[in-house]
Amino acid sequence: MAIQKVKCENKDCAKVFALNVKVGPEVDGKFEVYFVCPFCNKHYHAYFENIQTMSIQDQINELNSQVQNTRIIKKGMNFAKEFNKRQDYLEKINKLKDRKKLILEKINSKNKIKSS
Ligand SMILES: [Zn+2]
Repeated sequence: MAIQKVKCENKDCAKVFALNVKVGPEVDGKFEVYFVCPFCNKHYHAYFENIQTMSIQDQINELNSQVQNTRIIKKGMNFAKEFNKRQDYLEKINKLKDRKKLILEKINSKNKIKSS
């Protein structure tokens, strides 16, 4: 994976740095995902995760590695079986992603300014 670079929003700094995403300690059942400018120490809040979303991500990662395994075309393999297995994994991944998205929306919504 390529290293993502960002430009600091602090006008007095404005330096470009490589994104190094960190997770903070648990506060009220949530973990802050954030990064810090290495030049001026400006703290950038990204979003919050919780045990549920991190556990779902673990499952997604696990399924993704399963998908990688089914992508290799081997001699004598059962294509239909491998293809269907892969489709099942992808379906599970999508369901998990949807679930994670809903939880993330829920735990991050409190911090948004209501505009209605
Ligand atoms: Zn900075």
